[in-house]
Amino acid sequence: MYDTLFINGDWVAASSGKTLAVINPATEAVIAEVAAGSPADIDSAVSAAKAAFTHWSKTSGAQRGAYLRAIARRIEAGAEELAALSSGNNGKPLSEARIDIDDAIATWDYYAGLAEQLDARQNAEVPLAMPGYRSSSRLEPAGVVGLIVPWNFPFVTTAWKVAPALAAGCTLVLKPSEITPLVELQLGAIAQSVGLPAGVINIVCGSGSDVGSALTAHPDIAKISFTGSNRVGEIVMQSLAKQVKGLSLELGGKSPMLVMDDADLDQATDWILGGIFYNAGQMCSATSRLLVHESIAPQLLQRLKAATEALKLGDAFEEGVQMGPLTSKAQFDTVMGYIERGQAEGLTLLTGGRRAEGFERGYFIEPTIFVDVPTDSALWREEIFGPVLCVRTFSSEAQAITLANDSDFGLAAGIISQDNAKAQRIAEQLQAGHIWINSLQLVCPETSWGGFKRSGIGRELGPWGLAAYLEVKHITQPLAEL
Ligand code: NDP
Repeated sequence: MYDTLFINGDWVAASSGKTLAVINPATEAVIAEVAAGSPADIDSAVSAAKAAFTHWSKTSGAQRGAYLRAIARRIEAGAEELAALSSGNNGKPLSEARIDIDDAIATWDYYAGLAEQLDARQNAEVPLAMPGYRSSSRLEPAGVVGLIVPWNFPFVTTAWKVAPALAAGCTLVLKPSEITPLVELQLGAIAQSVGLPAGVINIVCGSGSDVGSALTAHPDIAKISFTGSNRVGEIVMQSLAKQVKGLSLELGGKSPMLVMDDADLDQATDWILGGIFYNAGQMCSATSRLLVHESIAPQLLQRLKAATEALKLGDAFEEGVQMGPLTSKAQFDTVMGYIERGQAEGLTLLTGGRRAEGFERGYFIEPTIFVDVPTDSALWREEIFGPVLCVRTFSSEAQAITLANDSDFGLAAGIISQDNAKAQRIAEQLQAGHIWINSLQLVCPETSWGGFKRSGIGRELGPWGLAAYLEVKHITQPLAEL
């Protein structure tokens, strides 16, 4: 299937006849050639989705929920193969890819439930203060939607968009990242295997500048949901502004982790490492700015250095590996560029800072920590999207909150404290979409995902994720006519 696109329920050749090489970032070997779509293929995919919308949008929520549950069960049945495919393409340890697949299953099941509940929400009476009139509301699918995803959590980010879009009654065209298309293409095979009507899901691989921009500019697309960088998010927004179309943006982050003076230092060490070195730091929600109370900084930094240097780097499939390579050569170069910039700025390295030793091939970088990073340093302010942690100390709760909120982004934050009231008080003052107290980054389908400030527009997951694909319609009339 890799040399074809999934359009109108079938695997079809790309009109350009061109292919894109897909690389395993641990070995740098080409592991597949996928068909490279073109604007003509986007046209075919949107036409198929438009034709399918006529029927799919009229199905009941219960019918759509049954398809979503069937998809969840198919993913479950093939979970190990999907995880392996994802690891081999993205480079993440197999244990992490397994968590991704489990998250995707949970998301499909969750939106199956919301689809089933939609039927009872239709034609709901809306009480009016105005006498003599009656009004009721309906929730209707937005139309044909375009979904654009990045490469750091393939299959999960996709589930966060595809499952609620289908639950709402939309049909769609998915554009995977050209870096990690393999596991995304499996969704086409899964859709076929559960008998999803042709054209409801279409998958077109290809470059962002070709296929992505053709999708955002297409007149028959009702809405775009985009996850990716701020740079491309702005381009997508401009394209949609011309057509006044709906848009959800999940963009970058530079999230803080606050460690208070009463923190348990061993637990703090685990949570800090998880927040920055999971997925080799390629997480929009990476807690890449560490704020530590000055009274505990020396002990905590000692523990962090030892734990970071003990992390096992390696191939995704090697037993016990805790961190894989960066997912692409381009991302490797970006992250090394930031590390070199930090060194040129004279920042103090606690550990790391080099291409990892012992690997003849692969985009491996040592997990890196800079300390005492000034707040005007590019490394403190910009999203690096790699295994690079920047640390500063603070002396009071108020200063910690000010430093944490001093960012263009507002996606997530972490707080570590044994004083629950204090942690809650701080959480309420942080400008971020998701705050974790004393935990790793737990993301459940029931909770929202998205950010304040430049981290994006709108929310995914939870009921908000479904609402993003629904139009609200009210029907109002005089009671006398009834
Ligand atoms: P990019 O913005 O480069 O790419 C994201 C997607 O957009 C890819 O599929 C890409 O295609 C496509 N694209 C590129 N150019 C265009 C265009 N002109 N029009 C339409 N689509 C286009 O991001 P990355 O893939 O590098 O992902 C990393 C970024 O994503 C980080 O900044 C990160 O913070 C953010 N992110 C945010 C998340 C969130 O939930 N807030 C979650 C995960 C990541 P192609 O692959 O061909 O370039």
